[in-house]
Amino acid sequence: MVRRIIALFFIAAALVACSTNAITGRNQLKLVSEQELQSMATTEYQQFLSENKVVNASQDRDAEMVRRIGTRIANGIKQYFASKGQADALKGYQWQFNLISNNAANAWAMPGGKVVVYTGLLPITQNEAALAAVLGHEIAHAVLAHGNERMSQGLVQQLGGTALSVALANKPAATQNIFMQAYGVGSQVGALLPFGRKQELEADRYGLIFAAISGYNPREAIALWQRMEQMSGGQKPPEFLSTHPSEGRRIEQLQKYMDEALQYYKPVGSK
Ligand SMILES: [Zn+2]
Repeated sequence: MVRRIIALFFIAAALVACSTNAITGRNQLKLVSEQELQSMATTEYQQFLSENKVVNASQDRDAEMVRRIGTRIANGIKQYFASKGQADALKGYQWQFNLISNNAANAWAMPGGKVVVYTGLLPITQNEAALAAVLGHEIAHAVLAHGNERMSQGLVQQLGGTALSVALANKPAATQNIFMQAYGVGSQVGALLPFGRKQELEADRYGLIFAAISGYNPREAIALWQRMEQMSGGQKPPEFLSTHPSEGRRIEQLQKYMDEALQYYKPVGSK
């Protein structure tokens, strides 16, 4: 009986914490405030950088490229959110883009604009527009609150739905683990929770728009995913492949989103 009451309480709390995403229109479970997530992201990002080999952007062309593309996408996203009257959703964002020396074909983004690209991704992306497509996809997960949804689900499933501050105080390691899983950070990609199918479709759709509005040809995303399929053979798939067993279907979906994205596309240098 007590358990049932507790369960009902959490269901009620979850209903209260559901809100409609102003960009996607989808209803999301959000138990954690954006501010709390950004603060946790800042801590975890610094920790991650201190434990990994960061490539120096003032001495390395690839690291400089990651920063340059990232900054343009950050500006593109700002422009997109403002055009939808949602500039506030990016409040507190202080973007950082770092390349780390690591053979995994991986990239991720935390709320507040904390982004990492692994050097192992670059042989697959091969060109700037393709890297922009990956960054657009990963940043979409963060700015569309997918990480918040996963964090909230993790808090409900693993820590009984306690508030983030309580969880952090009582179970710091478990809470940190949920956070890292929610944002796809980790050395063992296979051990991570995959994003849900709806989240992946949203990340693909808005990722194309974010790349396009920043001046990168969104069509490069299709060639990228074809390369990705060929080159990831045998390896553990990166986050952006993990819930897509069938590449053909993903490319089909991307084609469907392409017309919308192309409306935002202005090549770099054109007026
Ligand atoms: Zn994804």
